[in-house]
Amino acid sequence: MSSEVIDLTEGERARVLAKSALFDPPDVVLADGRRDLVGMDRAELAAEMAAIGEPAFRVKQLWHWIYHQGVTDFARMSTIAKPLQVRLAERFVIGRPEAAVMQTSTDDTRKWLFRFRDGQEAETVYIPDPVEDRGAVCISSQVGCTLSCRFCHTGTQTLVRNLGAPEIVGQFMAARDSYGEWPSPKGETPRLLSTIVLMGMGEPLYNYLNVAKAMKIVMDGEGIGLSRRRITLSTSGVVPMMDRCGEDLGVNLAVSLHAVRDDLRDELVPLNRKYPIKEVLAACRRYPGASNARRITFEYIMLKGVNDSEAEARELVRLIAGLPAKVNLIPFNPWPGSRYEPSGKAALERFARIVNDAGFAAPVRTPRGRDILAACGQLRTESRRERV
Ligand code: SAH
Ligand code: SF4
Repeated sequence: MSSEVIDLTEGERARVLAKSALFDPPDVVLADGRRDLVGMDRAELAAEMAAIGEPAFRVKQLWHWIYHQGVTDFARMSTIAKPLQVRLAERFVIGRPEAAVMQTSTDDTRKWLFRFRDGQEAETVYIPDPVEDRGAVCISSQVGCTLSCRFCHTGTQTLVRNLGAPEIVGQFMAARDSYGEWPSPKGETPRLLSTIVLMGMGEPLYNYLNVAKAMKIVMDGEGIGLSRRRITLSTSGVVPMMDRCGEDLGVNLAVSLHAVRDDLRDELVPLNRKYPIKEVLAACRRYPGASNARRITFEYIMLKGVNDSEAEARELVRLIAGLPAKVNLIPFNPWPGSRYEPSGKAALERFARIVNDAGFAAPVRTPRGRDILAACGQLRTESRRERV
């Protein structure tokens, strides 16, 4: 176990951000010189409009068409005069990632393999609620992952690059296209694609700036308008950035805990060597808005004979005591070449009961879309990093 004091200064955050910037995506200019408007924030859109001599109110109009109506064709923007529509189309596009593959599971979970402009790929999953007419879109934040958690298929793929804000927002928009879900609902009207979980490929807090920019775009009330309560960011525990995420975005936080002792967590989630359990939990206690209405979710993957004993359940309860929290027990989802086995039903139930009896909700997650390798931890692509 590390006895070093974790550096939580701005300096440490700056170091994490600088490292992340090395993996930033290529610019959004197309081969013909046009720029993609998707993923620009309002200030960037304003600058683009100013550069072609258009007033600031165009930003509001464009925002409405792009993010509320979901149009991809300037000719459909009926509040914009024809000549300007043409000028815009000469300079800009409203892009979507290309769906290279789309598969639908027997349980209606849908998975897309999205291909981006440089040919890199990432996966996105729509998980319909088994009961209600709504569901969650599980979005990827990186192509691959720098971390190499032992049970995760993505972790066997090295980090190729970060996804940019256009690619992160684009996954959600393309998923909505696929279900014909435009225009965006006003207020909290439920829609099928009503929730975002940042639980796909990659570690979102190692691509913080792009993820934050994308989430601010989807939260903007004049566009897609998802509230921060409908967004959950899952992290393996990048402590310095958890604080920043809480201050900046205030979205729901999910933490991939998976073990209650540092020696085991060091092995399963190697990032633990840098940010051990105690520090991760301290960051959870600091996370703003943590209350009974906004609980922190702890994800705990149930690996047979590895982390699923009664003693571990009791230790888990002791560790999170006093935190407004719930524990998602995730049965291990196997993938080609994986080395673990999922815990048995009896072990799962025993574990859940102990956590439940201590006053924490402890739902056992039913795996979804296993037949199309769309379940938690099964995402991986063939994208590779080019040698430079
Ligand atoms: N990098 C982030 C978010 C993506 S992983 C994180 O680690 O939190 C999303 C969730 O899937 C995590 O809780 C992760 O631990 C879990 N997971 C990974 N591999 C899995 C597998 N094979 N079976 C079940 N869950 C898995
Ligand atoms: Fe990366 Fe999360 Fe997979 Fe770990 S579990 S390798 S952090 S995607």
